[in-house]
Amino acid sequence: MIDKSSIKEFLLRQIPRPEASCLCGSGIEFGKCCRENIAHVDSRRVDSLSPAELLAKKRALLTRYSIWHRQHTRLLIQRDPDAGEKLLQLDLAAMSDFVDGLMAAYNATSMLEDFATVLERLRGNIEDERWQRKITYFQALSVSLALGDIERARAEIKKLLPFSDNEDSATLQLYLELYSVDLSFSTRQDIDRPETTGPDLKLV
Ligand SMILES: [Zn+2]
Repeated sequence: MIDKSSIKEFLLRQIPRPEASCLCGSGIEFGKCCRENIAHVDSRRVDSLSPAELLAKKRALLTRYSIWHRQHTRLLIQRDPDAGEKLLQLDLAAMSDFVDGLMAAYNATSMLEDFATVLERLRGNIEDERWQRKITYFQALSVSLALGDIERARAEIKKLLPFSDNEDSATLQLYLELYSVDLSFSTRQDIDRPETTGPDLKLV
């Protein structure tokens, strides 16, 4: 039988120590980064925040969810794999949204060039192959957005080949966008084709 004090101890152990690297990927110690912010991260409206405050908020949201994931999902996966998998899928979607928000905050503070390093630090937040692939997707997305470096973005997204039948739709869309740049550039000069309103990214 599990007693309450051992559960509490387990939950507390999932919170990083103050001197450990923060789970938001900033590279700053948890005690000097998100520790104070995670308690009141919901309290302020986004539109009243400066870009730096928004970055702190987005970091805290990701850190808080990462702690929840450690406290609940990792344990459930061990005890009840089917239920754990369902929770893990929710975590993958939620954490991806938080990384998306974090990327926007890095962009707003003109720090997007640091984001590749941040992403590599986030690889350990979920121990699952799908998370690793999602991080690689964000690597490709951020270098194409931040640096306009299409070649580097293509090199990143190609690491995910071959795609599976249930490949993440955002990954497929980015892959097609990165390769349609070249296609539209070469065909624009050679082929007299009717104007389109934009690239059709649907798979045929
Ligand atoms: Zn942090």
